[in-house]
This record gives sequence, C-alpha cells and structure tokens, in this order.
Amino acid sequence: MNPNSLTIALSKGRIFEEALPLLKRAGIEPLENPNTSRKLILPTTEAGVNLVIIRAADVPTYVQYGAADVGVAGKDVLLEHGGEGLYEPLDLEIAQCRLMVAAPLQRGATRGRLRVATKYLNITRAYFARQGKQVEVIKLYGSMELAPLVGLADYIVDLVDTGNTLKANGLEPTEHIADISSRLVVNKASMKMKHARITQFVQHMAAAVQAKS
Ligand code: AMP
Repeated sequence: MNPNSLTIALSKGRIFEEALPLLKRAGIEPLENPNTSRKLILPTTEAGVNLVIIRAADVPTYVQYGAADVGVAGKDVLLEHGGEGLYEPLDLEIAQCRLMVAAPLQRGATRGRLRVATKYLNITRAYFARQGKQVEVIKLYGSMELAPLVGLADYIVDLVDTGNTLKANGLEPTEHIADISSRLVVNKASMKMKHARITQFVQHMAAAVQAKS
C-alpha cells in the first residue's frame, strides 16, 4: 500500500461540478472529463490520486469497504446509508438543498394508512416513526413527484432546491426533514493507514471551502 495514494469517490452531475473547483484549489484536477470519458477511474494531475466515478448512492458503500479512501456524498445519501465505517470530517457546503415531505396542493381527506413514496426508505420510516405516525413507505427510484398525481401515494419525501419541480406538478412542501449539503467522508481504516495524506487532503479541502465562502 502506497501511503501517499488516494482514491476519491465522486458522483457525476451537480456534486461533481461543484466539487471540481474545491479539488482544483486542493491541487487535484482530473486528466479527463467524466462527462465525455467512458472511464470510471480518472487519473489526476497529482500522481497516485485517482477519482472513481460512481452513482451517488454508492459512494458511502465504496468508502465504507475501503474501495475508495475518501468520497463526496450528499447528507441525504449518508443519512440513508447510516454512516457505518465512515468518518465525516468536513461539510463541503455544496449541492445544498432540503429534504422535505411534500403533498398535492389540493388534497382530499385520506382514509386508512398514509402512503409515502420516496427513494429514502430508512430516513422516511424513521421520520414518521418519530412523529408517531404509521405510514406505508413505497420505494421509488426517481420521479417521486408523479406518485401523488397518479394515486400511488399521498405524500412524497424528496430533495427540494428552488421548489420549482414541486410547483410544476401541483405539489407543495409540508414538512422539513433535514438541511442537506455534500460532505467529505473518509474510510476509517484509511484514516489510520494513510493518516498524514488524508489529514493533508482534508485540510486542503477545508481551506478551499473557506476560500469560497
Ligand atoms: P427544484 O425544482 O430546484 O426544487 O429541484 C428539485 C429536483 O432536483 C428534485 O428532483 C430533486 O430530487 C433534485 N435535487 C434538488 N437538489 C438536489 C441536490 N442537491 N442533489 C441532487 N438532486 C437534487
């Protein structure tokens, strides 16, 4: 094991776009653009430092099992995963939004058990349990906003940024579950084995977050 090597797990899209300037300030730039490259492992300007490009929901798993030393993951994904095997040393203050419960603007009285559609099964079950409400949670993989429109669910739990997507589908946010931003996560074993390298990386990223704000 090279104590100076570093594998960083990242997802494409908003997190990648917003993490890139922070990584650049920390001296790390990918040698290829993941939006045009088909490669899943991208070498960077720094020797021994590679980016692995994976689905957002898979980032905690890769880092938990040490397939990546560090990763960037939304707090929503971390709450859903549970955070086992991970340190979460830094809020990167990117991809900020809120995790909300939402419902149709015009909703009739519901009979029986409320149904909630979401991709966040664990968060949603825990949230409604804390409220003492018995709900049926329906797992979806996308387009949650559709579920109340077609009678699949009474409520949804989803990320809200501007609120435009909810509005465009006749929905409104009803309850705030958590403020969300992307966090730097570190594998617990890597933190021990590559302590100097990872501490330096976290410090550089923290300085990059500071410089931005
Ligand atoms: P908006 O219309 O601006 O409220 O954005 C809502 C849509 O964007 C929903 O489909 C969300 O799942 C998605 N979304 C909002 N913020 C984020 C984020 N930080 N990361 C990933 N998806 C997001």
